[in-house]
Amino acid sequence: MPNLMLTTACNQQCPYCFARTADVHGARAGAESAAFDAVERFLDVLARSGIRECGLIGGEPTLHELFAEILRYALRRDFMVQVFSNGLIPGEALDRLAATPPDRVRVLVNVNERTAYSPAAWGTLTGSLGKLGSRAALGFNIWHVGFDASHLVDLAVTHGLHPSIRLSIAHPAVGEQAHASVEPADYPALAEPIVALAEHAARSGLRVGFDCGFRACMFSPDQLRRLHLAGSMARFKCETILDFSPRLECWNCFPLANVRRAQLGDFPGVIEAKDHFRSFLEETRREVLPHACLACDHFGFGICRGGCLAVRLREAGRTGSAG
Ligand code: SF4
Ligand code: SF4
Repeated sequence: MPNLMLTTACNQQCPYCFARTADVHGARAGAESAAFDAVERFLDVLARSGIRECGLIGGEPTLHELFAEILRYALRRDFMVQVFSNGLIPGEALDRLAATPPDRVRVLVNVNERTAYSPAAWGTLTGSLGKLGSRAALGFNIWHVGFDASHLVDLAVTHGLHPSIRLSIAHPAVGEQAHASVEPADYPALAEPIVALAEHAARSGLRVGFDCGFRACMFSPDQLRRLHLAGSMARFKCETILDFSPRLECWNCFPLANVRRAQLGDFPGVIEAKDHFRSFLEETRREVLPHACLACDHFGFGICRGGCLAVRLREAGRTGSAG
């Protein structure tokens, strides 16, 4: 599902955020937001390509001054909308989301550790979750060993959220140093807490899913079995997402934004844009993956793509230049 970055503005300062550090508009000026006609153009191209789902990302996308209008417009055009939010959602945007039928909108609320919130911010977050109910699913970004995600299950159950929790792992962005990411050497230390969380979630009827970039071999065979029993059989993906900046520049994903980028207008449609980035991803993967991955059964059977390509590029000393 292609994503449009509505605004680079954000009301959080998450240490692992690559959107904050990615050079999305050529110069690191202040916040930039998508013009309404850029949203129209983005949705036009999606519709022409037969795609009926769109993602709205940021920054914090609900801070766009026309967020409620943009949501209404996308729904009127029959799109299913997924909003990637930090949960600190302004009133008008929250009211509009809460008034939308749950089968037309999903809000993936990325929650940080409990200690990252002031009492006021925690009140705003839980207020948003209470209003969104089943429209909201929780996400959690793991950016250090010893992470604490023990509040997620309680939040999901208390507020009647969608019964899924999406775990992400903080990746580096090629050519950027400014945000926190997990070193591959630390991946195995994350495995047991992830499995324990998946088991805890399963006991409350929730399923833990995985964002891209995890590696199958960070888990032992027994941990993979336990994940499977907990209903969270992971696919260890690294694939073309297609993120668009407010000016409709596009890239595979934020961590690769400095390696390859293009303009929406370079392609007849989104399918062609996806094909372009998918080929780039596959070629680059073959160039930088170690032999251990290329010879690995998990790779051969398509279960694992070798983890995050941005991590592999960094390991290979390739800092990248977009184009
Ligand atoms: S390089 Fe692959 S795993 Fe890493 S963020 Fe991009 S799509 Fe995800
Ligand atoms: S493909 Fe590479 S990263 Fe994935 S399980 Fe195999 S060796 Fe590990």
